Amino acid sequence: MTLARILRNATIVAVLFGAFVWWYLHATAAAPVLVFPQPPATGGPIRIAVIADHFQSGEEQDFNAAVQNFIVHSLLADTYYAQHASAFTVKSIFEAWTPGSSPSKYGFQLGAGVTNCRISWASNTTSLVDAVVRASIDPAFTVIIGNYDYNFGCSQDTWSYVAVGSLGNRILEHEMGHTIGGLDDEFAVEQLRTTPYPGIKEVGNCTTLVTPQWNGVASSGRLPECDLYGVGIFHAFKDCRMRVPVADFCPVCSGQMDDAINDYTSAILTSIEHPIVTAGFFGFQPAPPPRSGRAVSVLVRVNNTTGKTLVLSTTDVPGSNVQHHRRLGDYVYEIIEGGQTKATSVIPGDPFHTHAYNGSPAPHASPAADDVAIAVTIPDVNRSSLANGQRTPEIIFYKLGRVGADPITPQRLAELKTQDLVKQVAKVDASALKYIANGGKPMP
Ligand SMILES: [Zn+2]
Ligand SMILES: [Zn+2]
Repeated sequence: MTLARILRNATIVAVLFGAFVWWYLHATAAAPVLVFPQPPATGGPIRIAVIADHFQSGEEQDFNAAVQNFIVHSLLADTYYAQHASAFTVKSIFEAWTPGSSPSKYGFQLGAGVTNCRISWASNTTSLVDAVVRASIDPAFTVIIGNYDYNFGCSQDTWSYVAVGSLGNRILEHEMGHTIGGLDDEFAVEQLRTTPYPGIKEVGNCTTLVTPQWNGVASSGRLPECDLYGVGIFHAFKDCRMRVPVADFCPVCSGQMDDAINDYTSAILTSIEHPIVTAGFFGFQPAPPPRSGRAVSVLVRVNNTTGKTLVLSTTDVPGSNVQHHRRLGDYVYEIIEGGQTKATSVIPGDPFHTHAYNGSPAPHASPAADDVAIAVTIPDVNRSSLANGQRTPEIIFYKLGRVGADPITPQRLAELKTQDLVKQVAKVDASALKYIANGGKPMP
């Protein structure tokens, strides 16, 4: 073997090795890591993504430890969540932050912006967060762990941000009451303590009714303050996690959480190509196995006051599609195609709220947010059929009126519309979905 040949072979090996290292780094950089449950257990249908903010490349172990502390040793060790742990699947994705001009890969920044949060964010933050987790995890919501030794948390759009220093304050446990259970805060903020509640609450853990919806629940009462207002609205129990995060859920709230979790676990599957299946309702026939379907997750910005919508992204997501029919909030979306309702889903809680925690003793304020990003699942389509115009679904958002606690199925929504009991808030046209599915850029 000549020297030239040895050198050439060595070069080939070096190039191949370099290519392998490149592939390895790129192929694994954004791959999700299973946090919970550990095999052989299989995960439940409520998927949570956890991502890192402000952690440098050498700090992946610190992030992994924080994930274990927040998720495994706190959230899923909690009295309530531990009993329902089999309903959850938690995966984390580590993306290192490189110190430089920006303090975050996702546009987060310490210091108050327009909200009461101790952190502010950019107009494209939710898009950036969603892009990391949507295709691989398709989470019900995303937890962002910020590498800051402060005690604060903040929730908006599809994510909850918690600082490392907030560990132990049960912020996630409380926050999932909002995001999964659609529960409201059971206190009034200072500036609304003497303000009458605007509107009606007849479901959930706050009531404006003289006879509360939880009437008959043992030891329940009608205690002043709920949903941030002090006058004309009431909660049921003195002690509850939705009032003080370190407490347990009160019986009313744990009942609603059970309902919400059941919405995922006893899936009411809807399908565009097949009739709506609602098996398992009466407990006689088992629920059908989840169909390994296809769907497109649409991230859409919705303005509650102007009714404007802006499609931010469309992402193919795997798996079966759970539509939420239980009355866990006042907003519902409907997927319509060719004049026919294909799916309806209740959005838990009030998406037009920002939830902010600034230290554990003070209750957190939740200022209204007119303009929020909402993730909508369109079942039984894929991006290419949206892009080529073969499929033309539209999304309509409604606010429910005084309609009681019965599930909002497609049939029921149709009835409510004829009775004028729902108000259209905003709409996404098929053309907007087509444009973004074709790679168009959102233009506000
Ligand atoms: Zn809250
Ligand atoms: Zn409660």
